[in-house]
Amino acid sequence: MTTTVQTVATLTEAARAMAQGATFLGGGTIIMRDINAGVAAAQIVRTTDPALNDIRISSDKVTIGAGVTMSQIIAHPELAFLHKVARLIGGPQVRNMGTVGGNLFAPHPYGDFAVALLALGAQAVMAGQNGSRPLDDLLRDRSRSPGLVAAIECPRPRAGTFGFFKFSRIKPKGVSVLSVAALLPREGGRIRGARVAWGAMAAGPVRGASAERALEGQSLNADTIARAAQLAAEGLAPPTDAIATDWYRREVAGVYLKRLLEQMERG
Ligand SMILES: Cc1cc2nc3c(=O)[nH]c(=O)nc-3n(C[C@H](O)[C@H](O)[C@H](O)COP(=O)(O)OP(=O)(O)OC[C@H]3O[C@@H](n4cnc5c(N)ncnc54)[C@H](O)[C@@H]3O)c2cc1C
Repeated sequence: MTTTVQTVATLTEAARAMAQGATFLGGGTIIMRDINAGVAAAQIVRTTDPALNDIRISSDKVTIGAGVTMSQIIAHPELAFLHKVARLIGGPQVRNMGTVGGNLFAPHPYGDFAVALLALGAQAVMAGQNGSRPLDDLLRDRSRSPGLVAAIECPRPRAGTFGFFKFSRIKPKGVSVLSVAALLPREGGRIRGARVAWGAMAAGPVRGASAERALEGQSLNADTIARAAQLAAEGLAPPTDAIATDWYRREVAGVYLKRLLEQMERG
């Protein structure tokens, strides 16, 4: 099949092309495989709009353009809380090309960066004056091509309240058996507003509602961690693929949630 690639100057024009059926090209680490295999969409659109590569940081919020690459995240000193996540995505070539926006739409078992953003309570800023949407909502809807993501906004976590863990068979650049991220803000020593997100434990990144319930309102101690780990896989339906079976993913989810929470407890 012939594929036409159109380059436009603004996000608005790109959003308009997508509304007419074009597929957006980010870094191309996923799409280029489809183009090479002759199975890509007939119309591809990309944009040179510099807004796509903006990174803005304030005291309590970060805004990351959807075209920012994993390598640019790692190079930014004020995004230290995301460095570990970005470093665990693919090898150097993939990190140099792969974008934050593309990661939101990357199929299972990819999407590790989206897992971290989901735990952080990020919002997707949509191009073409379509406002913002919580990432929970966008990720649920992602198979229906919800439009062009211009940027991601997320609260800047306080030191020691955010953690991420990726379990892969090949180190350092294997794909996920699973990944897990947690945001555990504390008030008076108690967890308030716990968010846990999983990668490779469903068709796309999902919240871990049972683990969140076990953590909410508790102190982060050995008993709380044990309870959350016990409930880690409850309500989740992980896929079976060449990397792991659904059974195995459910079995090990608690082990890796426990490791992550213990790391966070140690600070
Ligand atoms: C060898 C290899 C290893 C990899 N390892 C990992 C890994 O360890 N972890 C991981 O998470 N991923 C991994 N990936 C997958 C991928 O590289 C990343 O997920 C990357 O972030 C995808 O971004 P991209 O810009 O290249 O996406 P693209 O290929 O450009 O696009 C992917 C999809 O996202 C859509 N899209 C892109 N940007 C936007 C936007 N702004 N708004 C709306 N839709 C958009 C596209 O239309 C397309 O459907 C790997 C890929 C390869 C080839």
